[in-house]
Amino acid sequence: MKITDVQACVIGRHEPDSGGSVWTFVRVYTDEGIVGTGECNSASAASGFAVKQAVEVMKRFLIGKDPTNTGPLYETLRRFGRYGGTSSPPIIFAITGIENALYDITGKALGVPVYKLLGGKYRDKIRLYADLHAGDDESPEAYAAKAQEVIEEEGYSAVKFDVDHTGVGKLDPVNWTVSAKEMTHIINLIAAVREGIGYETDLAIDCHGQFDVPSAITLAKAVEPLRLMWLEEPVPAENIDALAQVRAKTSTVICTGENQYTRFEFLELLQKQACDVIMPDLSKAGGIMEAKRIADIADAFYVPIAPHNVSSPLGMMAACHVCAAVANFLVLEFHGREIPWWNDLCDGDKPFIRGGWMHVSEAPGIGVELNDKVAKSLLWPGDTYFD
Ligand code: MG
Repeated sequence: MKITDVQACVIGRHEPDSGGSVWTFVRVYTDEGIVGTGECNSASAASGFAVKQAVEVMKRFLIGKDPTNTGPLYETLRRFGRYGGTSSPPIIFAITGIENALYDITGKALGVPVYKLLGGKYRDKIRLYADLHAGDDESPEAYAAKAQEVIEEEGYSAVKFDVDHTGVGKLDPVNWTVSAKEMTHIINLIAAVREGIGYETDLAIDCHGQFDVPSAITLAKAVEPLRLMWLEEPVPAENIDALAQVRAKTSTVICTGENQYTRFEFLELLQKQACDVIMPDLSKAGGIMEAKRIADIADAFYVPIAPHNVSSPLGMMAACHVCAAVANFLVLEFHGREIPWWNDLCDGDKPFIRGGWMHVSEAPGIGVELNDKVAKSLLWPGDTYFD
């Protein structure tokens, strides 16, 4: 089997509270008629089109090659332009999407689901947490009510809220320092949600790297009695030593990783003891096998993996194959609750989300396909769909 063509297109719309919902999809075509699709998360149209360009440039390394040679093809793409940033975004996003498409083809060619190519599965269904927003109401009561409503109605065993940009008490729009009023409000929000849902449902809190070290330490220490599943990106992602400082000062579980890529960056995070949980975004971090490597490195540090996920059902199912195949999987994010067309965009074993879980597909390959009609209708303005 040989690769005959590689194409990409940008699909999605910016939906409120959606975590981006702009995705670049890659299709790899073969001379045997098997087509593989992979998703690269982009989160913005600018990045989406940059990823598409990168895919089109890298096509020349793929045409005529055996698509089941997934490892060497991935490493060729990553190494060919190391000095041009192939281990960094947005090019690593493009490589991730191509690698996912190659795994989709390989699974289809062998008649097996992707998790079997990773050594088999530890679990049939993947535990999810719901990323929640209370809407325009920034009161602690609104946050608590939202959490209770979603847990009761949809069955999640874990939820997450953002606490940056509440708009309450911010004195300076530029510096990362949390004012006394803002800090009090944030702590009240977290305490209200914890009181509302009790201690038998997991609660994570995301700071989006918006705080400085002293503010992050104050917050992390203040919420220690609230037993968070984790406090996410309490400081910006670039300085791992700064995050390690925060982690050393608190017993609150610290999580990071949606802005880190490839095994090398996660190795550094773990060696510097900067976090307790890692959360690579599996549509960005390098690919299906790269995610397995990242998880295995974390496992050697006895650190769990809780992947970040704002993908379509296709990228999310690709993540589920990895989550199924690693021992140290904790929980996977679901960010599509507020996207009205999230389910319609893809075909597969529906409903994709059942009672706070996603069942791992047993179909050959990734097991989820784009619905061409819906995907075409959601093509980003100015782009063209696959041939
Ligand atoms: Mg986050």
